[in-house]
Amino acid sequence: MSAQLLEALAAALNDGSVETVDLTHTLDPDFPVIVLPPEFGQCARFRMEEVSAYDHRGPSWKWHNITISEHTGTHFDAPAHWITGRDQPQGHVDEIAPGRFLGRACVIDCSEGAARDDDHELTPEAIAAWEAAHGTIPPDSWVLMRTDWSKRSGAAYLNMREDGAHSPGPTPEAIRLLVEERGIRGFGTETVGTDAGQGMHYTPPFPAHHTLHGAGRYGLQCLRNLDRLPPTGAVLMAAPLKIRHGTGSPLRVLALVPRSTDNGEATA
Ligand code: MN
Repeated sequence: MSAQLLEALAAALNDGSVETVDLTHTLDPDFPVIVLPPEFGQCARFRMEEVSAYDHRGPSWKWHNITISEHTGTHFDAPAHWITGRDQPQGHVDEIAPGRFLGRACVIDCSEGAARDDDHELTPEAIAAWEAAHGTIPPDSWVLMRTDWSKRSGAAYLNMREDGAHSPGPTPEAIRLLVEERGIRGFGTETVGTDAGQGMHYTPPFPAHHTLHGAGRYGLQCLRNLDRLPPTGAVLMAAPLKIRHGTGSPLRVLALVPRSTDNGEATA
């Protein structure tokens, strides 16, 4: 049975009836990283330095050294990233079982709200409305919060004001519902973090980090192309680099989806 299933998947990838959507931003020195208050350590932007380029430093080859934070660009948050997850088993990226990197995704479209309000919240009511249309979120799903925020760039992406960043995210009640009642595997966003820009003002502060990682679940952020995914039916592949005792990692996030002309039927 499973051999036939893999054969069918391989055929569908070859003939294009299953498409691969790239949910990853290009790593670039200009891509914004989260900015913390100045008393804290800061996340490094991506940097790339040429080692040789078919020249005297290496006549037949070209390569680069790169510098990066675990939390730069499109990246994965492991449980050990947050103090609530510090004692979770398999809490670092090198310890997570590889099967956890492949799984179904549910996409909640919050783009209308986020267009009206930079601080738009994903609430339990919004989850209930999504479930009324698409069914209960299955256990062990990735839940992705679509906001179209990835279409912003530069200063508008971090959207810093005098009182800090303003960007959408989940309320404490919404993330508790997803983790404790739906048993999700992880939560992904298009913004620079899994929490809202003003997430420090919730109780607990940064509820997505607090609750997800305290329960051994994962985060994905700086995703893009969520508008190309159906609400249900996509399979996500998100495998972080195997960094010893790493708390997160840049990665290439891919989604397998039914060919877009099929999406209407596939999600009806
Ligand atoms: Mn992170």
